[in-house]
Amino acid sequence: MSNTDLPANVHVLRPRKVSLSEKLDLFLDEHGLDLKEAAKQPDPSRPKSINGNALVCASCGEAEYLTRDYCRCGHYLRGQLEDEYLAWENQVYDDHNKLADAIALKIKPLRYLFAIGLPFLVGPMLYLNFWADSFTLYPLLWMAPGILISGIVALTEKVLTRPLEASAHFLNTYSIETFIDQRFFQLKVIDQ
Ligand SMILES: [Zn+2]
Repeated sequence: MSNTDLPANVHVLRPRKVSLSEKLDLFLDEHGLDLKEAAKQPDPSRPKSINGNALVCASCGEAEYLTRDYCRCGHYLRGQLEDEYLAWENQVYDDHNKLADAIALKIKPLRYLFAIGLPFLVGPMLYLNFWADSFTLYPLLWMAPGILISGIVALTEKVLTRPLEASAHFLNTYSIETFIDQRFFQLKVIDQ
């Protein structure tokens, strides 16, 4: 075979992957200096994507300043932000309703417990009012379990409903600023 003769399957030959040394490849991989990584260098005039002041454009995937109504690619950022805010708002209400349902389920047995304790409170009071000839301490002793049960019920209910109160307070006080802060916080958590 002469130097000018080519093998019949020349068209399926692929260029060999040239590697200068394994150490160099490793170095480039570690420091992200190969061409593919270099191409990903962010545009310095764009904000960092993980930034409380930035929004990642849904159209081009680049970060853009929140204060801009339109991304540099022409996408309407204000609309995107409002859509995200509405979705977040729905989620907040949804979470609150789920929490309220879950807590209502936990509180239900307490109502039965209170119903058990109620006769201990009402009975001695009726007795003292209508049937007792003279005031005695004896009926008051009967009230002790009722007082204990109602005390436990009130305390447990207070503890159980605390997260719901906090959630209701959040619903009354949140704003789009809260949404932007939370979104930034979530981005940071995802990034870590
Ligand atoms: Zn864009």
